[in-house]
Amino acid sequence: MVVLVIGGAGYIGSHTARALKAVGHEVIIFDNLSTGYEFLAAGFKLVKGDVLDKSALTSVLSGCDAIMHFAAHAYVGESVTNPRKYFRNNVEGGLALLNAAVDAGINKIIFSSTCAVYGVPAKVPIEENIPRQPVNPYGVSKLFFEQALEAYDRAYGFRYASLRYFNAAGADESGEIGELHEPETHLIPLALRAAAGVGPALQVFGSDYPTPDGTCIRDYIHVNDLATAHLRALEHLEAGKESVAVNVGTGVGESVREVISAVEKVTGKSVPHTVVPRRPGDPPALVANPAKAQSLLNWKATRGLNEIVSTAWSWEEHRRGVRVR
Ligand code: UDP
Repeated sequence: MVVLVIGGAGYIGSHTARALKAVGHEVIIFDNLSTGYEFLAAGFKLVKGDVLDKSALTSVLSGCDAIMHFAAHAYVGESVTNPRKYFRNNVEGGLALLNAAVDAGINKIIFSSTCAVYGVPAKVPIEENIPRQPVNPYGVSKLFFEQALEAYDRAYGFRYASLRYFNAAGADESGEIGELHEPETHLIPLALRAAAGVGPALQVFGSDYPTPDGTCIRDYIHVNDLATAHLRALEHLEAGKESVAVNVGTGVGESVREVISAVEKVTGKSVPHTVVPRRPGDPPALVANPAKAQSLLNWKATRGLNEIVSTAWSWEEHRRGVRVR
């Protein structure tokens, strides 16, 4: 198939582009490079453009069989202070893409959704059928797009897979591509940089949560397991099966303190850290029940926290040795 990877020069998109290529799909990356990096798309046909640019989108869509849509702003805190940016890109841009796809006669899309659509879940592990009640504009923008997909499926037979990511982390085993955010706000890269002495001491956001060690629990999912979930979702849609919305997580929760211990074990270095107040909007625990993805998509995570941290560490070391732009 010819797969258009929107946002393929970003973190998860670039790993998925490689996975698609490895199984023989033809990949075209479309990216405005606002947060992506050209070198992450090396080896692929890269079309530089924005989803809000209708003519650029229309020309790149012709000849494609399916779309994977990764392009989105994804900082929760920024979405609270600048919702306009989030609704413009994630909602207006998403709808522009959807309409251009329908007009181009494409009817398959795989969408990067998020566990943020659930808000603060009443119960973990989270099952897909609990109410979706996002608590920040980022989650609202993702939920809007999920609901647009549901409407387009009913009305136009537009088939989708909404993949609700938990905490994407880790890097490709090659060490050539990995997580690169500006600014970096995620726990694992910050803990690794603190351990390497190239970043400040890690701030642990709260140790008074109702969890066994008092720190927040998350479900960290290796980026290449996420990439495989996209392949399975594409096979599912290719086989003419119904649209799906599934959690993409491991089902295992790790606390911030457990992540720090894993980083110390992998790197052999201590992680300087201090406990600071809670970060607003952080639910105490977010863990997937991944059973639905397993039964509908025949997908299951195969890597755990150690693989996540060790690949992320190789990538951080590789990155420090090269110029990136
Ligand atoms: N976290 C932390 N210090 C940091 C960054 C994150 O203690 O510098 C915690 C955060 O409160 C959350 C977990 O680590 O419980 C994962 O946060 P991250 O920002 O990596 O992902 P998120 O869960 O926000 O998508």
